[in-house]
Amino acid sequence: MAFDFSIEPEFEEKLAWMRTFVREEILPLEVLDLDHRTYLALAAPLKQRVKAEGLWAAHLGPDHGGPGFGQVKLGLMHEVLGACELAPPIFGNQAPDSGNCELIAIAGNEQQKRDWMTPLLEGRLLSAFSMTEVGTGSDPTQLTTSAVRDGDDYVINGTKWFITNGERADFHIVMALTSPDAERHKRYSMIIVPRHAPGVDVRVFGVMSDPDGKHPVHEECEVFYRDVRVPAENLLGGEGEGFALAQKRLGPGRIHHCMRWIGVSNRAFDMLCERVVSKSVHGGLLAEKQMVQDWVALSAAEIASFRLLVLHAAWRIDQVGAPAARNEIAMIKYHGATMMQNVLDRAIQAYGSLGFSCDMPLEQMYRWARASRLYDGPDEVHKVAVARRMLKGYTPADTPTEHVPTRRAAALVKYGAALEAAKRA
Ligand SMILES: Cc1cc2nc3c(=O)[nH]c(=O)nc-3n(C[C@H](O)[C@H](O)[C@H](O)COP(=O)(O)OP(=O)(O)OC[C@H]3O[C@@H](n4cnc5c(N)ncnc54)[C@H](O)[C@@H]3O)c2cc1C
Repeated sequence: MAFDFSIEPEFEEKLAWMRTFVREEILPLEVLDLDHRTYLALAAPLKQRVKAEGLWAAHLGPDHGGPGFGQVKLGLMHEVLGACELAPPIFGNQAPDSGNCELIAIAGNEQQKRDWMTPLLEGRLLSAFSMTEVGTGSDPTQLTTSAVRDGDDYVINGTKWFITNGERADFHIVMALTSPDAERHKRYSMIIVPRHAPGVDVRVFGVMSDPDGKHPVHEECEVFYRDVRVPAENLLGGEGEGFALAQKRLGPGRIHHCMRWIGVSNRAFDMLCERVVSKSVHGGLLAEKQMVQDWVALSAAEIASFRLLVLHAAWRIDQVGAPAARNEIAMIKYHGATMMQNVLDRAIQAYGSLGFSCDMPLEQMYRWARASRLYDGPDEVHKVAVARRMLKGYTPADTPTEHVPTRRAAALVKYGAALEAAKRA
C-alpha cells in the first residue's frame, strides 16, 4: 500500500503555532520547580488559549468534543508537544487521562460519559488507570485484585502498584477479577472507582525520574483497595471484557507516547549539535572530530527513521484500525524507546560533566526516558509478540528455500533445454 503523509497548509499553520507556544509559553515553566498545584494554576490560562485554537483534546473525534485529527496529524502534533513534559496536559492530551477518556468513549454508557468522560475531557477531573500489581505487568493474567458482586454493588479488594496519578486522580479505572472460573482472558473487568471512596488508600513513592514523588504532572502510586464498595453500574463495558478493553485503550495510547519521543529526541539532538559546534578540545571543535560526527550522523538517521516508522504506524491505524496495526505499534514501542535513550546518551556525552549535571535538562530527560522501556508493557513483551506473529507466516523446511544447489536443479528443469540451445547457438 502506498502511503502519503502530506498535510494541508492550514494544519502546517497550526503546527507552527504550537511550536511557538511550546517554546515561548510552556518551556519557561520547566525551570520554575513547580509543584502540582502551582503548575495547575499557571497552566489554566494556557489551556484556555489551546482551547481557543481548537487544539484541546485532539485525540478525540468531534462526537466527544475533539477535532478528530486522525493519527498522522496527532503524530505531527505530539512531536511538537513531546519536547516538554509539561506540554501534553496543557493540550488536554496526557496519559493516563487521554487513554481513559477514549476507553469511556468506547465502552461507557451515557451516564458514565456524562459523569466521568465529559468532565475528564474538559479538564475538570483527573483520572488513573489501575491495572498493574507487583510483578504482574508483563502477564496481567496473574492479577489478583478482585471485585465481588454483592447485591447492587461490587466489593473490591487488592493492591495496585505503579499507578500514575493515583493520588491526584478523582477516579480510578480498576482492572479486577470478576469471573475467576471463566476462560483466561475473560476473567477481568474494568470498574470505575472514585478516588475518595471509603477503603481506597494511596501511597505516593519516588521513582528514578522523580525521587521525591513531587513531579508537577505525574506521580507514581501504590493503591490499596480494602472492601471498597461501588455501585454495579460503575462497571465499564460488560463483565469479563477487561482485557479486550485494555487492548483497545493501550494501542492508541502507546503510539502517542512514541510520537512524543520524537520530540524528546529532536530536543536532545538540537542540544547535541549546539554543543559540538561550540566546544573546542585538542585544537578543534568537537564537530570536527570523527567520533563526534558519528554521534551526529547516527542520531540524525535514527530519529529520521523512527519518525517514518511512527508516521507509518499512525497512517496504518487511520487506514485499517489499531488492532490490524498492532505489529507496527509494538515495533515503534521498543525501537523508539532505545533510540531515544541512545540519542540522549550521546548528547550527555557531548556536554561532559555539564550534561550529567542538573544545570542541563538532559539528565532529567534521560531518567524519564528510561521508563519508556517499561511502561505500557516492557520491550521484551512487545518483541516476543512481534516475533511470534512474524514467524507464524513461515513453514519449517528441511532444505532452506534459498539453498543454491536445490534452486539450480529447479532452474535447470525450467530453463535446461533453453540453456543448452543458447550454448549450442
Ligand atoms: C513510569 C511508569 C508508569 C506506569 N504507569 C502505570 C499506570 O498508570 N497504570 C498501570 O496499571 N501500570 C503502570 N505502570 C506499570 C507498567 O505497565 C509495568 O511496570 C510494566 O508493564 C512491566 O510490568 P512489571 O513492572 O510488573 O514487570 P514484570 O512483569 O515483573 O517483568 C519484569 C521484567 O521481565 C522481563 N520480561 C517480561 N516478560 C518477558 C518475556 N516474555 N520475555 C523476556 N523477558 C520478559 C522484562 O524485562 C520485564 O521488565 C507504569 C510503569 C512505569 C515505569
